[in-house]
Amino acid sequence: MRKLIPAALAAALFIAACVIKPPDFAASPAAHSQGTADLQLVRLAYIPAPPPAPPAPTAPDPDDITAFSHYIHPNAERYAAYISENPELDLQIAVAYVNAGLDVAFFEDIIDITVPQDWLVLVNKRHSLDKAYVPSDLRPALGSNQQLRTAAALALERMAEQMKQEGMRLFLRSGYRSYNTQRSLYYRPTSSDRYNARPGLSEHQTGLAADVVQMYTSAKIGTLRFEKTPQYEWLLQNAYRYGFILRYPKEYTNITGYSYEPWHWRYVGIHAATKMHSEGVATLEEYYGRYLITPVPVPGK
Ligand SMILES: [Zn+2]
Repeated sequence: MRKLIPAALAAALFIAACVIKPPDFAASPAAHSQGTADLQLVRLAYIPAPPPAPPAPTAPDPDDITAFSHYIHPNAERYAAYISENPELDLQIAVAYVNAGLDVAFFEDIIDITVPQDWLVLVNKRHSLDKAYVPSDLRPALGSNQQLRTAAALALERMAEQMKQEGMRLFLRSGYRSYNTQRSLYYRPTSSDRYNARPGLSEHQTGLAADVVQMYTSAKIGTLRFEKTPQYEWLLQNAYRYGFILRYPKEYTNITGYSYEPWHWRYVGIHAATKMHSEGVATLEEYYGRYLITPVPVPGK
């Protein structure tokens, strides 16, 4: 007790000294002579420092595929295998390709299409239409004897009309093909999987695919001459505005399963075609894997 009293007294005297005469660092000598300004400076000297800024949020890891909106957790092992086999691929695209089933060989484990009437239906060497499927709204298109589904026919006609105004003609050489027609086309001695679709695996059965030509009489389907026409150049620039995409681009034959077909245009609707155009999505396979699947996130995320 005896020792505490002098200590407490000393502390009290020290505090009193501070209040009466603030430490020199709180105010400059010049300020001492300015009365109330002197007190103001003292008060400012004791304002606590602002709290430290919160740490900047860390940028998402571009290699974290589980953060992708099209990540499907049950596919995790397939993603890992596909990415290690295709290290050059952009990860977003690799995940999309697996979602579209491209990590499985063509013609293996064929998936039956359940909503064939969807404008965005993916028909390829893994996704098959039922042989009984016939679109309900077929109609002749572009003054030809070929049929397309109504939306595709109207879009093609509007597109061809615009091209005509710009001095180009466009004709429809082949539209809807039934399962049986496709079967007879495929089982010819000259056909091959690279160029011809097996029955059920042809987009032409959807009524949404149009093989176009630049001349009505002499131009055959399936010649690369169409690539050299102004019509083709125009379509590359503008077809998306009418809802069409180039379905089998030159650089993606391993993805689509078909050789380059500059004449084959697929109706997917203006929204999807515009999105593909603006985002640089080159194939319907990639679009399907990115936007048309149901995401299944990581449990707990
Ligand atoms: Zn075609």
